Parts: sequence; structure tokens; C-alpha cells
Amino acid sequence: MKKVFVSTTSFAKDDETPLKLLKGAGLTVCLNLLARKLSEKEISGFLSDTDYLIAGTEPLTRDVLKYAKKLKIISRVGVGLDTVDLGTAKDLGIMVYNTPFGPTQAVAELTIGLMLDLLRKISNMDKDLRSGAWEKHMGNLLQGKNVGIVGFGRIGQRVAEILMSFGTEISYYDISTIKSSLHYPLKPLNKLLQWADIVTLHCPVLEDSKPIIGKEELKNMKKGAWLINTSRGGLIDEDALYTSLKEGHLSGAALDVFEREPYKGSLSELDNIILTPHIGSYAKESRIKMEIDAVNNLLAGMKCDRER
Ligand code: NAD
Repeated sequence: MKKVFVSTTSFAKDDETPLKLLKGAGLTVCLNLLARKLSEKEISGFLSDTDYLIAGTEPLTRDVLKYAKKLKIISRVGVGLDTVDLGTAKDLGIMVYNTPFGPTQAVAELTIGLMLDLLRKISNMDKDLRSGAWEKHMGNLLQGKNVGIVGFGRIGQRVAEILMSFGTEISYYDISTIKSSLHYPLKPLNKLLQWADIVTLHCPVLEDSKPIIGKEELKNMKKGAWLINTSRGGLIDEDALYTSLKEGHLSGAALDVFEREPYKGSLSELDNIILTPHIGSYAKESRIKMEIDAVNNLLAGMKCDRER
């Protein structure tokens, strides 16, 4: 019997359909009972006798894949493939799938939520009130703000669509030529950063590239602007962001993703930042769709594998 290891921690918790699909296909299913993201060493151990992997964001490096002698298919629950060494997977004949559309709405909605929270200081006042302080902090409207979207793919465009009803001005920067029904002005990154009141990041991290938002880019942003990253850690230089927030150049920031996760760094000391533990796609409906999509991708891959 072929064996599939599921490394994502919330798999089939809210809807058993994906688990039933795997079992219905005659697979032995092993779940990640550690209930957290696995380290390189841990995932290597689990993959030593596994044929298929339903993957989360654990590091699937060259070393991990080299020792996964039986592994034929990696099916990611999610869009990002930056945790998978795709070159090695190709060399070893391991098929790799992802679920590109599953998280779009969930990440876009979280982004808008963080924007509103930043502008109206909701989390700050919630903390104050719980500690006994009844203090009103003046907020800002989203209406009329210039929103700069960096990376105008599925999520970036969905953010733009949702923002339409708020009366914001929207412009974007993307490294590739976008085919979109949304007609917003494209600006070079430096111009976008100077123009935007709110900058939101929706692009991947390119391998070995420096952060897209470093010290110079932060300086280039408008004084009093807000920065949001629900995309990938590594897009922002976290030390430079700390300085910018501490010195008050930026009014605030919201991060869902970090260079190292779980995040334990000094940004937690600041009041003008909202930090969430990589929950972009953690909406029940999106998770269920992504898990079912990932299982269906795996089953399609198994069919291809049998035919090769
Ligand atoms: P997508 O591929 O549809 O869009 C990404 C866009 O970014 C593309 O248009 C691409 O051309 C552009 N791009 C790539 N590199 C760029 C760069 N250096 N500068 C500017 N633009 C660049 O992807 P998507 O589905 O919209 O997802 C966007 C990001 O969101 C991904 O990086 C993904 O990892 C992340 N994500 C995060 C979560 C979360 O839990 N927080 C969940 C899902 C996706």
C-alpha cells in the first residue's frame, strides 16, 4: 500500500472530505501529530519511507529530498513554492503541485482587515481597554488614500477589487507584464513608494534576492505611510523596518510573515505594528478548498505517475 504523509497541521480538522479522498484512493495516511511546522531534520525522518507528501511550508531542501528515496509527488496546500527546492525535485523526478487559487480571497481579506486595523488602531485600543485604559486614539479613513500594491497577481488584484468600494486611489508595481481586467496605473517601485499612503506586498521572494523593502526603500516611502506584508517574510528588512517605525518615519506596519517563523524578534516591542502568525490562508472555507485541491492534485499526479 502506498503511503502519504500530511505535514500540514490543520488537515481535515474542519471537513473530513480531503482525508476521505486519500483513504478512498487506497492510501495509508500518516498525519503530522507534532501539530507544528516541521524542521528540516523532522521532515527528513517522516519522508524516509513515504511515497507522497501533502506539504505545508516546511523546508523541502536538497538534503531533505535526496534522502526521500521513495517520494514521487509533493502536493502543497497553498500557493508558495519557495520552500521547495524545485531544481532538485525536477532532477529526482518528483512531481510538484500547488493550489494557486485557494488562499486568494483569504489573504486579500486579511490584508484589508490589517489596513483597517492599522488606520483605526483597533488592536491598540483593544489592548488598552483590557488593561484598564479607556482612551480614544484618533484614526484615519481608508477612503481617499493612495494604495500601492507591489505584486499584481491573484491576491494583489483581489485586494484592488475589494478596495474599489472604499474610494481609494490604486496603483501597482509588478516585474512582469500583467494581463488584467483591472486598469490601474503601473508605476516603477521607487515612484510607487513615494506616492503611496499604504504599501501592501503581494509578490514572492526571489531566491538569493535582497529584501524588496530595505533601508533605502523605507526612507523613500512617504512620512507617515503604512506598510503591510501578508506575502512572504524576507521581502522586508526587519531591522530597517524596526528603525523606521521607532523613529516614526512610518506610521505603522502589519506583518503576517517573517524572515524566521515563529517570530521572536524586536518588532514585538513596538506599539505601531500589528503582528499575526502567518494566518493569511487560515480561513476555514479557504483551508477546506485548498486541502481538497491539494488532494485532487495528488490523485491526478498519481495517475500521471502510473502512466509514465
Ligand atoms: P501570483 O503569482 O498570482 O502573483 C504574484 C505577482 O508578483 C506576479 O504578478 C509576479 O509577476 C509578481 N512579482 C514577482 N516578483 C516580483 C517582484 N520582485 N516585484 C514585483 N512583483 C513581483 O501570486 P499570489 O497568489 O497573488 O500570491 C502572492 C504572494 O502571497 C505569494 O508570494 C504567496 O507566497 C503569498 N501568500 C501568502 C499567504 C499567507 O499565508 N500569508 C498565503 C498565500 C499566499
